Amino acid sequence: MDSYGGYRSQLVGELSAKGIRDLAVLRAISEVPRHLFVPESIRHRAYQDSALPIGGGQTISQPWVQARSLELAKLTGRDRVLEVGTGSGYQTALLAQCADQVFTVERIPALAQAARAVLSATGARNISVLVGDGTLGWRAYAPFEVIIVAAATPEAPQPLVEQLATGGRLILPIGDRVNQVLTLMVKQPDGSLVTRTVSDVRFVPLIGQFGFAGDLAT
Ligand code: SAH
Repeated sequence: MDSYGGYRSQLVGELSAKGIRDLAVLRAISEVPRHLFVPESIRHRAYQDSALPIGGGQTISQPWVQARSLELAKLTGRDRVLEVGTGSGYQTALLAQCADQVFTVERIPALAQAARAVLSATGARNISVLVGDGTLGWRAYAPFEVIIVAAATPEAPQPLVEQLATGGRLILPIGDRVNQVLTLMVKQPDGSLVTRTVSDVRFVPLIGQFGFAGDLAT
């Protein structure tokens, strides 16, 4: 265990006090070194339950939101997962602990490259990182049992719905550019989606063909 192990245990305690119950999720959080995924200058804040800046105007999401998303995914260890919005790669690492294969797409090349480097340094071997528009999914590896979108979108991008396996779970923040609701959609045998809203959240916007239009600020 590195010197941050005590801080990680504290974060696990805090998340469990805030209602995270899934032991596999709590174990992943106790094992993944979040401090390696944030810029060095704010490493001392890595185990606070808050979102932090990671460069390029993007953020690493709040641990509680990531833990809750992971709980909703109900991973079995045999799943093929698509993540849209790699960002720092931290959530990718959590997913990789709980799933069989993780495919992750990031639109900002510098973030994808940094995430690749830290993920390989932490020893994860079941992750593939693609630079591109994740609203299009990653057709070559579809269908996915779980798709997690880490950026805000006005509605579920159609390609992601298509690339979700029957019985698969799509987890995404739906709303406007500022406020969203974390939403779980489960694909039924007839192709329809059963939708459940979970909690109010704030993510950076999903910029792409089936998300928000880009602008100079992003
Ligand atoms: N889960 C990440 C948080 C990422 S923040 C973490 O643990 O750090 C959301 C990320 O989505 C940003 O890095 C942003 O660049 C990315 N993003 C936004 N639109 C995207 C798109 N269409 N395709 C892929 N990534 C996108």
